[in-house]
Amino acid sequence: MSGRQEIRGRLVLDDRVVIGRLVVEDVRIASIDLDDDSATAAAQALTDAAVDLPYIAPGFVDVHVHGWGGHDAMGSAADLDGMARALLRHGVTSFLPTGWTSPMPELQAFADRVRAWIPNAPADGADPLGFNLEGPFLSAAKKGAHNPSLLRNPAEVPWSEIEPLVEGLTLMTVAPEIPGGIELIRRLRSLGVRISIGHSGADLTGALAGYDAGGTTTTHLFNGMTGVDHRAPGVAVAALTRDEAYVELIADGHHVHPAVWTIIERSKPADRLMLISDALSMAGMGDGRVTIGGQDIDIRDGRCTLADAPDTLAGSVIALDTAVRNLVGNGASLPAASAAAGRNPLAMLGIEDRGTLAIGQRADIVELDHGLAVRRVMRGGIWI
Ligand SMILES: [Zn+2]
Repeated sequence: MSGRQEIRGRLVLDDRVVIGRLVVEDVRIASIDLDDDSATAAAQALTDAAVDLPYIAPGFVDVHVHGWGGHDAMGSAADLDGMARALLRHGVTSFLPTGWTSPMPELQAFADRVRAWIPNAPADGADPLGFNLEGPFLSAAKKGAHNPSLLRNPAEVPWSEIEPLVEGLTLMTVAPEIPGGIELIRRLRSLGVRISIGHSGADLTGALAGYDAGGTTTTHLFNGMTGVDHRAPGVAVAALTRDEAYVELIADGHHVHPAVWTIIERSKPADRLMLISDALSMAGMGDGRVTIGGQDIDIRDGRCTLADAPDTLAGSVIALDTAVRNLVGNGASLPAASAAAGRNPLAMLGIEDRGTLAIGQRADIVELDHGLAVRRVMRGGIWI
């Protein structure tokens, strides 16, 4: 094991940034010593010493990511290895490999592969926390880049086809208004699966019914849902006004205009915003074309769209390091952006052993330079 290590920097705490020192013993944070806040304030009046000190933040957690670095979450165990390693290098220390609308047997095979892979996941990659399924129980009216011929109504799918997905299924998107949607939300929630309301054409009442039935969170707020029409409020209004509901945000600047991020930040309690990447396997690989779930997707200048419908966005090519930088660049505080990239998604999943710089927490830490670029990443007490 790694023994005792000291890390000094500008510590990103839950409510503020303070110069101080963390001591890590083996896999956990053993102690924290803070310089007093006035010293931090003085130092941050831009002495060179403060600028040189890195930011030390909790590792990022991406609960909605389809691939990275040329590796598809729905590919082989080697792809899952590659994806986990690529994510870690962007500060992501925990993640949910996320499946995409596919035929049920392929989803079952994906679930089996991820379950078999988790105990063997590489120590130098992001830590898997189960898996996420985006589809097939989505609304055709809000399908986004999902293959419409593969969407299913839960009412028409026997439980014997769904049940094999449940073990290890941490999060699943369901459109509440489709036939059998509410019953499926109730049933999965009773089995411990977190439900994300999304890819939904529900009106306000239908969306609220989804949260009432057990919906905990919201799949990429504003994308693939009814929005904020002042006479016909939809899923986005339900998500923004129901305080308990978590919301995912793809903060790449393409999916939701940054001016609208501000509306989200002002509407939602600070502990309910979650940054996600929704990244595709092509993330980190430059421009090109990729086929996912039978859909051709073009990547050009950081924008992913359906090849045959160039106005339809289809995931991103960012990781959470970029999302955090973008959110801060738009005026969010670093503690708020850090929470959105780590503590909040973990709380949504009910995971408490990581996600904040506090004694006893697992030492999953990202070190950022003054421009918030990742310098190095610690997972479970080991610098990678
Ligand atoms: Zn989506």
